[in-house]
Amino acid sequence: MKEHTRVVVIGGGIVGAAVLYHLTKLGWSDVVLVERKQLTAGSTWHAAGGFHAMNSDPNVARLQAYGISVYKEVEEISGQDVGMHLTGGINIAATPERWEAIRYEHARHKVLGIDSHLVGPEEIKKLCPIIDVSNVIGGLFDGNEGNIDPYGATHALAKSARMAGAEVYVNTMVEDLVHKSDGTWTVVTDKGNIQCEHVVNAAGLWAREVGAMAGVHVPIIPMEHHYILTGDIDELVEFDGELPMMIDLDGEMYLRQEQNGALLGVYEKNSTPWAVDGTSWDYGETDLLESRLDDIESALMQGFERFPALGDAGIRRIVNGPFTFAPDGNPLVGPVRGVQNYWSCCGVMAGFSQGSGVALVLSQWMIDGEPEGDVFAMDVNRFGAYATKSYAIEKGKEFYENRFALLCPNDEWPAARPLKVSAIHDRLQQANAVFGPSFGLETPLWFAPQGSEPIETPSFRRSNAHAPVGEECRAVRDSVGIIDISSIAKYEISGPDAVSYMDHLFASRLPDIGRIRMGPLLLPSGHMKGDLTVMRLAEEKFMVTGSGYLQEFHMLWFEQNSSGKKIRIVNRTDELSAIAIAGPGSRELMALATSADVDKKSMPFMSAQYVDVGPAPCLVARLSFTGELGYEMYVPSAYARRLYDYLLELGDSLGIRPFGIRALVSLGMEKSFGIWSREFTPDYTPAMCGMDRFVDYDKADFVGREAALADRDAKHEHKLVALEIDSIDADVWGYEPIWHKDDYAGFVTSGAYGHTVGKSLAMAYVRTPYLGAANGELSVHVVDQRRPASILAEPPHDPSGSRMRS
Ligand SMILES: Cc1cc2nc3c(=O)[nH]c(=O)nc-3n(C[C@H](O)[C@H](O)[C@H](O)COP(=O)(O)OP(=O)(O)OC[C@H]3O[C@@H](n4cnc5c(N)ncnc54)[C@H](O)[C@@H]3O)c2cc1C
Repeated sequence: MKEHTRVVVIGGGIVGAAVLYHLTKLGWSDVVLVERKQLTAGSTWHAAGGFHAMNSDPNVARLQAYGISVYKEVEEISGQDVGMHLTGGINIAATPERWEAIRYEHARHKVLGIDSHLVGPEEIKKLCPIIDVSNVIGGLFDGNEGNIDPYGATHALAKSARMAGAEVYVNTMVEDLVHKSDGTWTVVTDKGNIQCEHVVNAAGLWAREVGAMAGVHVPIIPMEHHYILTGDIDELVEFDGELPMMIDLDGEMYLRQEQNGALLGVYEKNSTPWAVDGTSWDYGETDLLESRLDDIESALMQGFERFPALGDAGIRRIVNGPFTFAPDGNPLVGPVRGVQNYWSCCGVMAGFSQGSGVALVLSQWMIDGEPEGDVFAMDVNRFGAYATKSYAIEKGKEFYENRFALLCPNDEWPAARPLKVSAIHDRLQQANAVFGPSFGLETPLWFAPQGSEPIETPSFRRSNAHAPVGEECRAVRDSVGIIDISSIAKYEISGPDAVSYMDHLFASRLPDIGRIRMGPLLLPSGHMKGDLTVMRLAEEKFMVTGSGYLQEFHMLWFEQNSSGKKIRIVNRTDELSAIAIAGPGSRELMALATSADVDKKSMPFMSAQYVDVGPAPCLVARLSFTGELGYEMYVPSAYARRLYDYLLELGDSLGIRPFGIRALVSLGMEKSFGIWSREFTPDYTPAMCGMDRFVDYDKADFVGREAALADRDAKHEHKLVALEIDSIDADVWGYEPIWHKDDYAGFVTSGAYGHTVGKSLAMAYVRTPYLGAANGELSVHVVDQRRPASILAEPPHDPSGSRMRS
C-alpha cells in the first residue's frame, strides 16, 4: 500500500469507482481508492441497475447522458463486461394531469438535449406486451435508457482507473482522518496510514460516518427500498426483443425485464428510513434487509394490476436494500466549506444514472478548480446548518414517497416546515400569507384573501394566486407595498485589506462610501459566479447582499479567495432582518418614519446609510427590485417586528399593502431584470447575459478578467432578451423551447405574468439568427401548446428607469 498519494477516494461503490476513473481520465494518476470490504459492498451490489437520461435540469440531463456513454468506454478499456441493456424507457401517464405534465416535459426535452418522443397506448403495448393499457393515456419514450450490471460496471470503472495508474485497496477500512496544519490529510486505515493532499467521501451508506471523521455533517438518510423478481413470464419467453424500462408515474413503480421474468420496484407511501442513528460497520457486503410486505402490499397490488402477467409468474425473490437520499434527492458534490481539501461525492440516489456525471464534475472541480457549467443542483453547499439530522430524515422520507409525484412549478412540499421563521412571521400569518421556504426560512410568497385558506393549488397554469398577486403588484405601482425580504443573504466584509480583496474579487468598480453598486463575481474562466449587491459603509467596510439560498456557496467562494488577507467576513443573514417598501408613496412613508432627510439629494438612488427608522436603527439602502422608488431596511432582528408594525401603521393613510415574492418576481419581470439561477448562472459569461454593463473591464486586476475580456467581443450563440407571449391561461417557468416556424430558436429562462402591463412575459436566450424575428413570428411552448411570442425592444414598464431613480 502506498504511504503517500495525491487523492484518497473512500468507498468502492459505483460512485467511488467512477471518481477514481475520472481523476485518471482527467490527468491525475497518483490516486488510490480504499474499500473496507469488496468493491460494490454498499448499496451498489443489490441495485436494480436501471439508468435514465431524463432529468428536469439541463446540466444534470447532460451529465446523465454522458454517464451512459462512459459504460461503453470503460468496457472497451478494461475488457470487463458491463452487462449493458440499452432497451429504451417509457414513462407512462394514466391521468389527464399527468399526460399534460408529460407533454410539457417532452416539449422541454428539446432544450435539455434529450431525444424523446410521445407514444400512444397501442405503441406502448407493442413495446411492452405485458402491460395493461386500458387506462393509459400515453407515454414518453427515451431510447437512452436501460439497465446495467452493477458488479460489471463498478469493476470496469475501477479496472480502467488501475490501467491508468490508480491503485485500489480492498479489505482496507478507513478508521480516521487527521487534518494537518498544511491542509493535507493523514488517512488512518487498519492496514496503515496514507498521507495525501485530498480526501473524497464516496462512502455511500457510510458517508455520514466518514463525514464525522472530519467533523462534517452529511445531510442524508438511507431509505429502505424493495423490488421483486418474478418467475418466468410466458409472454416474455416468446417475446422477440427486450422490454423497455417502464415507469408508471401514477402508480409510483418501475419495471424492467430480468431474463424471462420481470423486476418490479415500488416507491411506497409509508416509507422506512434506515439506520437513522448511523450505519453499522457490520452491515456487510451480502446483507439484505428483512422485507416489509405489509408496507409495500398496496404498491405491489398496483403493480400487478398494471402488469397482470406478474401475478401468474409468481414472486421468485424479494430484495429490500437501503440507499441514501439527500433532502431534495440530488447528490452532494464538491468542496466542503471550512474543511480544506475534503471533497463530498455522496447522497447519489441514482448511482447508475448519475455516478459518472457526478464523478466528472468532482474531478473537474479538483483538477481545474471549477466544474464546467452550472452544477448548483448537485453542489453540497446548497444546504446550510438548517439541514440537520432530523431535517434530512423528514425531507428524505418525503422525497422517497414522492419519487414520481406530479410536481408543478408552484408546489411547496410540507415536510420539516416551518423550520426557521422571520421575526415578523406571525404578522405575515395574520395577513394570510402563503409561505415557501428559502434556505430553511419561511418567506411570504403571496397573500390569500382574508377568510380563505392560505393554500396555493399546484398547477402548470395560473393558480388561485394569480388575482391576489395582481392586486399586490398594483398596490406597489400605485401607492406603496411592504415586503419581508429577510431571507436575503447579508455578508459584512471589513478590515485593512478589505478594499484590495473586494476589488480583486468583484468584476465591478467598488462603490464610494455610502453608495451601492451591482457586483458581479466571475470564475477564472470568465463565467458568472455571482450577482451580488455591494454597499460601502465605510472606507474599509462593506455590506454585500445576494440570494439567501446561496449563502454557503458565496461564503465558500469568499473564503477560498481570502488567503493571507487581513479581512473579516461575517455572514449576518440570520441576525439581520430585512424589510423593504416600494412604490411612489414610499418616500412619503420614509419621511413620516424617520427624522433623517429623505429627499432625492440626501438619500439618492443606490445610496446606503445608517438611519433610525422610527424606533429601529436601520441600514437603509435606496434601491428596489420592483423597479419603483424603494427602500430596503436592514435591521437587527430584535427590532424587526416593531419596525414592521410602525411602518404599517404610518403607511395606512398611504394605502400600504403587504406583498410577497411572487409579486416581486412579476414586478421585476416587467422591468426585464434577470435573476441568479435563471438568467445568470456559471453557464454564461457577463457578455452573454448582459451583466457586462456592470463589469469594469478597465480595472487592472480581478478574478476572471483575462477570460472575460477575451469573451467580451466574441460571437455568442444566444442573446438574453425579454419576450411577450400571447398565452391564454398559463405563463412559462423555464426551459421551454422557442421556435421560429419549425426551427429551434432558443429557450426560456424564466417567466411570469406582468400584472400591471397586462402581458405574459419571459426572459429567454434567443439564438442570434432569430433576434430580428418580426412580432409574433416566434412561438413558445406554454405547457403543451405553442403560443405566438415577440421579442420586446425595451422593458414593458418604465424603460427609462425614471421611477426607480426618482
Ligand atoms: C434495492 C435497490 C435498488 C436500486 N436500484 C437502482 C437503480 O435501478 N438505478 C440506480 O441508479 N440506482 C439504484 N439504486 C441506488 C444505488 O444502489 C445507489 O445510488 C448507488 O449504489 C450508490 O453508490 P455509492 O458508491 O454512492 O455507495 P455504496 O454502494 O454504498 O458504496 C459505498 C462504499 O464505501 C465503502 N466504505 C464505506 N465506509 C468506508 C470506510 N470507512 N473505509 C473504506 N470503505 C468504506 C463501503 O464498503 C461501500 O462499498 C438502488 C438501490 C437499492 C437499495
